[in-house]
Amino acid sequence: MKKILVVGGGAAGIAAALSAAEAGGRVTILEGQSRPAKKLLVTGNGRCNLGNTRIAPEYYHTARPDRLEALLEQMPATLTTDFFAHWGLMTMADEAGRLYPYCRQASMVVDVLLLALQRCGVVMETGCAVTEALWERGAFTVKSSQGGSWRGDALILTTGGKAAPKQSLSGAGYALAKGFGHSCTPLYPCLTALRCTHPALRGLKGIRVLCTAALCSNGREIAREAGELQLTEYGVSGIPAMQLSCRLGAQKDTEISVDFFPDCSAGDMRTLLNRRAAEYPGGALEDVFLGLLHKRIMYALMKEAGLSPLSRTARTLRLEELARLAALLKDWRLPVGGPMGWEQAQVTGGGVALQEIGDDFQSRCCPGLYLAGEVLDTVGECGGYNLHWAWCSGILAGRGAAGEAEI
Ligand SMILES: Cc1cc2nc3c(=O)[nH]c(=O)nc-3n(C[C@H](O)[C@H](O)[C@H](O)COP(=O)(O)OP(=O)(O)OC[C@H]3O[C@@H](n4cnc5c(N)ncnc54)[C@H](O)[C@@H]3O)c2cc1C
Repeated sequence: MKKILVVGGGAAGIAAALSAAEAGGRVTILEGQSRPAKKLLVTGNGRCNLGNTRIAPEYYHTARPDRLEALLEQMPATLTTDFFAHWGLMTMADEAGRLYPYCRQASMVVDVLLLALQRCGVVMETGCAVTEALWERGAFTVKSSQGGSWRGDALILTTGGKAAPKQSLSGAGYALAKGFGHSCTPLYPCLTALRCTHPALRGLKGIRVLCTAALCSNGREIAREAGELQLTEYGVSGIPAMQLSCRLGAQKDTEISVDFFPDCSAGDMRTLLNRRAAEYPGGALEDVFLGLLHKRIMYALMKEAGLSPLSRTARTLRLEELARLAALLKDWRLPVGGPMGWEQAQVTGGGVALQEIGDDFQSRCCPGLYLAGEVLDTVGECGGYNLHWAWCSGILAGRGAAGEAEI
């Protein structure tokens, strides 16, 4: 029986350990935190959106889409559902294909996985931050900052990324991978709120609005997301903003364009405002446009269009002023300062280059070394795509490592 060392006891590490142990390996997980899978507990707002029934490359971002596509081909949604069915966790999908534990408790996912590790005889070493990993004298040697040392025939790096440092020891895995000759694409916080510099935001904080939000760079639209946008004093949050953060990368001169009425054309918007103004010529603007949109947003847009909601009446409006307001309702621009930092980010964009990984997730730089999960240059959108990637890459790496170890 060959020894397999797994560095990182998160989603990918546990999946890798279980599949390696089932394939006959003697597995030890080395986890830097005081307990494993800490991050899993906070996923999906405590409900753990653990996968999605619709897996496709368009839900992921990487510098090498061709490699990602090849890797994802081996990872159908059923790889995740079969994995959990095998270990006894009942799952269910919602109308959008998002997979959850049937009991909707992230803690249950952790309980099931920890029991499975115990049943498979996987050794879990916690409080063990790995600082050194190398290949010497025919085996991998791994050392921790606490003075521990382990040797193994195969090594699986599942150290995650830099996001959410409260939930995991963050960022150390990249240096370990680089020590084996790997390169990393630039890292950036993903699935996070966006900082925006618009002066009206301070007065709009706390408002949630259904809309579409587009990310534009140098005036060109890069991506558009629909959903509930949350306005905060520092910028925008909510699912649309988080999804767009994955597309930010190194884009320059970026803005968010908010369309408050995506089902209404620009022309129809102008007609609607003109009709309202014509119907109540003596009315103050605050009354004329009441009922269209959250009052505070409407006030902010009127102010931006140079209109005073209280002192102006509809009859004083010029056509170009109405057109300016209609344009703002369809395309309100917020200059983007960048993503919020690592603390707020759910995942890491960038990572160990995918072209340096084989289809079995074995390193092309060092045979016997495997990498899986967020440490790799792949980031998924909201909807369970990141955990799907973590489990499945872990499962394949674990199988590969155990096969490799059977020499
Ligand atoms: C708030 C939040 C909510 C989320 N919700 C969802 C969701 O609902 N659905 C979804 O798909 N994704 C979600 N994600 C993303 C998802 O949790 C991650 O993509 C996934 O956990 C990555 O798995 P991983 O095993 O690669 O890394 P991690 O889960 O980060 O695990 C890595 C582990 O390695 C350990 N480690 C790191 N370096 C060392 C070292 N040197 N020595 C020893 N141990 C080390 C860390 O302590 C950690 O336990 C969420 C993330 C956050 C922060």
